[in-house]
Amino acid sequence: MDRYSGFRLFAEALRGHLGWGPAWRDAAPKPAYEVVIVGGGGHGLATAWHLATTHGITDVAILERGVIGLGNVGRNTTLVRSNYFLPENQRFYEASLKLWERFEQDVNFNAMVSQRGTLNLFHSDAQRDFFARRANMMRLEGADNEFLDKAAVLRLVPMIDADNGRYPVLGGFLQRRGGTVRHDAVAWGYARAASARGVDIVQHCEVTGVLREAGRVAGVETTRGTIRARKVVFAVAGHSSHLAAMAGFRLPLETHVLQAFVTEGVKPLLDVVMTYGGGHFYVSQSDKGGLVFGGATDGHNTYAQRGHLPVVEEVLSAGATLIPSVKRLRVLRQWGGVMDMTMDGSPIVSATPVENLYINGGWCYGGFKAIPAGGMITAHLVATGKPHPVGIHFGLERFRAGRTLDERGAGPYPWAH
Ligand SMILES: Cc1cc2nc3c(=O)[nH]c(=O)nc-3n(C[C@H](O)[C@H](O)[C@H](O)COP(=O)(O)OP(=O)(O)OC[C@H]3O[C@@H](n4cnc5c(N)ncnc54)[C@H](O)[C@@H]3O)c2cc1C
Repeated sequence: MDRYSGFRLFAEALRGHLGWGPAWRDAAPKPAYEVVIVGGGGHGLATAWHLATTHGITDVAILERGVIGLGNVGRNTTLVRSNYFLPENQRFYEASLKLWERFEQDVNFNAMVSQRGTLNLFHSDAQRDFFARRANMMRLEGADNEFLDKAAVLRLVPMIDADNGRYPVLGGFLQRRGGTVRHDAVAWGYARAASARGVDIVQHCEVTGVLREAGRVAGVETTRGTIRARKVVFAVAGHSSHLAAMAGFRLPLETHVLQAFVTEGVKPLLDVVMTYGGGHFYVSQSDKGGLVFGGATDGHNTYAQRGHLPVVEEVLSAGATLIPSVKRLRVLRQWGGVMDMTMDGSPIVSATPVENLYINGGWCYGGFKAIPAGGMITAHLVATGKPHPVGIHFGLERFRAGRTLDERGAGPYPWAH
């Protein structure tokens, strides 16, 4: 793999950028592998990279039915943070944030990691108290956070209407190490680094069946033929239930759509990620100047990668309440991605009822920030057969045993998490 560097960029600029080669090999599938990973999203790619680098397992194929980066890994709003409440989640997402902090060096790829801070606004005493509890839990796990009063919030985000008639702003909860990472660069960075270590990235290869022999997984049927494997990993996000059905078991999750929006570009206006506590609206400003924002899921089961107008209206009205000036901006694009929403809102990284078949899924609407640690714990599970200490609570058995990780306390209602 050619090393990317400032010097290389300078040298290429002098010769018209004609010397760059393809970033990764577009491999044809071989008949058999040690490990087959289904799904070339962030988690599949990160798992392959960790298998190759941490565990020395390079006889690995990633089978992607479309093109790398066109799934949720390239559809999300790019936010990373570790401001979780439950210790099991907090520990995991903090480990992931630490991996983001060295991601670009690890894979030698510029992913525009920007720790610009994530600010959660609060609008009532009860909300402030909940954030105080969350802050304490975070500090116990060594994560940073700060409480801001209304004046400090206004210094950070002067454009908001803090005295709006619906939910006046009382203060904010800030994690300065949170921020954004350019999402498609994450897919490309992992793909390039994994491919350089021998991993086959096979695009346009849809898995249509799962081979089982004597209770064990033996490979997969695909649109490009049968591929045998000693171990198989499902990392297909919103399509997890489909793949599980092919292997003969069911998962405690539902698939829902989540929408996102981007406006026309404007001059620098907002240099943190901001979440409104009075409605479903969060926003950041991209490097190109567009405001990137979103809200909650559409609330019903679907595999359609587009959303419905009532949610568009809800998100836009919440945004306009908080930042009245955004009403003058034009929304350029809107899109959706299908989320694998679990019954407790926490992920599943687990062995399955089929021996040597593993699942990485259930990321709900928060799995982008989890990609580095998700790949790390999935690779550990596949390589050693044991859960990684950081992901030990994400096994499927927690649903049977009643030890759910219900971050929000919303109960078994996937749309409510
Ligand atoms: C609008 C939106 C905003 C979001 N914002 C954030 C955010 O700000 N922060 C955050 O942390 N998270 C966010 N998320 C969630 C996050 O994007 C996902 O949880 C995460 O990307 C899912 O993991 P993945 O990257 O591996 O999934 P994907 O990129 O979806 O990868 C799964 C892949 O599996 C492939 N596949 C499916 N079936 C098959 C098959 N049969 N054969 C072969 N391949 C198959 C798909 O084509 C896909 O490429 C957001 C999601 C959306 C939709």
